[in-house]
Amino acid sequence: MRQKVVLLFSGGLDSTALFGWLHEQDYEVDLLSVDYGQRHRKELEAAARIAALRHRKHTIVDLRSIGALLPSALTTPSIDVPDGHYTHESMKATVVPNRNMIFLALAIGRAQAIGASLVAFAAHAGDHAIYADCRPEFVQAMSQAALIAAEVGTISPFIDKTKAEIVTIGNDNDAPLAMSWSCYKGGERHCGRCGTCVERREAFALAGVRDRTDYALDAV
Ligand SMILES: [Zn+2]
Repeated sequence: MRQKVVLLFSGGLDSTALFGWLHEQDYEVDLLSVDYGQRHRKELEAAARIAALRHRKHTIVDLRSIGALLPSALTTPSIDVPDGHYTHESMKATVVPNRNMIFLALAIGRAQAIGASLVAFAAHAGDHAIYADCRPEFVQAMSQAALIAAEVGTISPFIDKTKAEIVTIGNDNDAPLAMSWSCYKGGERHCGRCGTCVERREAFALAGVRDRTDYALDAV
């Protein structure tokens, strides 16, 4: 029987690449997204489209009220994220306090509820400096807690990978990367200019993988 895994699935580039990887490893993937009051719904819509494309079960947990409890540039329109390359300061504005511990706790509970033996989490090396809850020691500690609390294991195969390496892995595993959503601005297309768009474009370029993302025409 295929091993069942609950993937924390934002609909962004990293978790979409991980979805492709898990699929190719022949896991039975149950997708879990969280609506935490993001300033736009583009990522969640992308998540739903990708799940439908691959005919996978997809649950969106409604936690919209925690957006007000845990303010960040991702949830609070009055906090700006500047264009261009991330700096320490601009990336700090995107920290949602303790987000991954909360989301992992949900995924672990969901895994236990449906008899899945694993949760998968797409934390990667580029996140470590600013996002404490993406660091290997955090993921290790959460894995231990999950085993004790729910007898559920944790896999995070991208923990030491760069964004470019993730693009390569996603591409090699036929993940629908172009359907994933990164842009913070939530327009019709990716703006191509905000910190996360810049990072996305750079990752494709470094990986030497054709970037099929639909960017705004004036993106430079
Ligand atoms: Zn953007």
